[in-house]
Amino acid sequence: MASPKRPEPARWLRATNDITQQFLAFGGRPDVVSLAGGLPAAELYPVEAIQAAAKRALDRHAPAALEYGAVEGFPPLRRLIAERFSAETGAAFTEANVLLTSGSMQALDLLGKVLIDDGDLIVAQAPTYLGALDAWRPRRPSYLALDWKAPDEAAFARAKFVYAVPNYSNPTGVLVPQDRRTALLKSVLASGTWLVEDDPYLTMQLDGSPGRSILAHAVERGRAYDGPVIYLGTVSKSLVPGLRVGWTIAAPEMIRSLTMAKQATDLSSSMLTQAVAFELMAEGFDREHSAAIVPAYRERRDALCSEAALHLKDWFEWEVPPGGMFVWMRSKGNAIDTDELYRFAVEEKVAFVPSSVFDFTGRDRYGMRVNFTRSSPETIREGVRRLGRAIDTYVSSRPQLKGQR
Ligand code: PMP
Repeated sequence: MASPKRPEPARWLRATNDITQQFLAFGGRPDVVSLAGGLPAAELYPVEAIQAAAKRALDRHAPAALEYGAVEGFPPLRRLIAERFSAETGAAFTEANVLLTSGSMQALDLLGKVLIDDGDLIVAQAPTYLGALDAWRPRRPSYLALDWKAPDEAAFARAKFVYAVPNYSNPTGVLVPQDRRTALLKSVLASGTWLVEDDPYLTMQLDGSPGRSILAHAVERGRAYDGPVIYLGTVSKSLVPGLRVGWTIAAPEMIRSLTMAKQATDLSSSMLTQAVAFELMAEGFDREHSAAIVPAYRERRDALCSEAALHLKDWFEWEVPPGGMFVWMRSKGNAIDTDELYRFAVEEKVAFVPSSVFDFTGRDRYGMRVNFTRSSPETIREGVRRLGRAIDTYVSSRPQLKGQR
């Protein structure tokens, strides 16, 4: 029987693809070494601490933790976030400056809902976090690349917001120096636009510390906060991604708009996981835990980079990232198309993420994001060797490249 003709999905869905799901599904196969995803090391998850915190959360916060809660989030955690950021920055943040979300991914989605109409301009750090591009795709924005060296105030004035990941960016791992942060803030203030500072990798500090957030530069000591910086934080790296707890710190007017959008999205996030996160963070456990796992990640990054120096350096170049989860590798002279290379990597059973998915124009096909947090140092080394073999086969299939290096 012929299948009935049913309505098509909305236009934005027809214009996108499930490439991310494909990468993640392939990377999840047991015979594949995945250098693709952005996941922490599962064996470092603080299972016992979470177990104890879950018990405390129920002992202390039931039934509130088991119900729908305030759209803005579990009040004790909102207060704790306001207090922490006040202590760190010198501002007087209150609960009115804080919205809790289901990970910072939800905050990106809500920002799209609140700020972007068809065709509106976003000035985004490029390459751009794939999840942000995904979140905003249904709103059909246009994009310009953020130039950290020369912020374009005229473009900012036309944009709904500027999007930046100054700490160990995804996908590049780049840490933006303080003078560029202050220069960007100055231009944002002069242009009158919003600045979204997305900061999931704050605690993934492998070499030294990143210094002040742009939010910290934007506050006035002891004063209520009403500035243009919309700061996104999360427990995904400091604790575990599965709690799905993130926070947005912003001017009260922006928090009110985002709250309206969130109400229409899910009524409220899980009060239970917010209560668990509260129990952990109130004791400072997230900070202790982050500091404790950093050496393991440093070892993994170093394993990746030293093995890559043995097997990939004829064709790719990279900088050792001072933090985060990824090494961003660029093909020397754009000799290797990484969308194409991916097919050879599949044959060798190793996964990475090609640069095209981080480019809002889709045209950059000469880079790859390589993750170093998920696998053991030995597995990472094996993955790099497989990648080396995939490159060899790719090069031998292209007569024009043979003998080039
Ligand atoms: N922003 C960036 C730059 C990310 O890399 C990620 C994912 N790691 C997120 C936001 C979303 O994080 P989560 O929803 O887990 O808080």
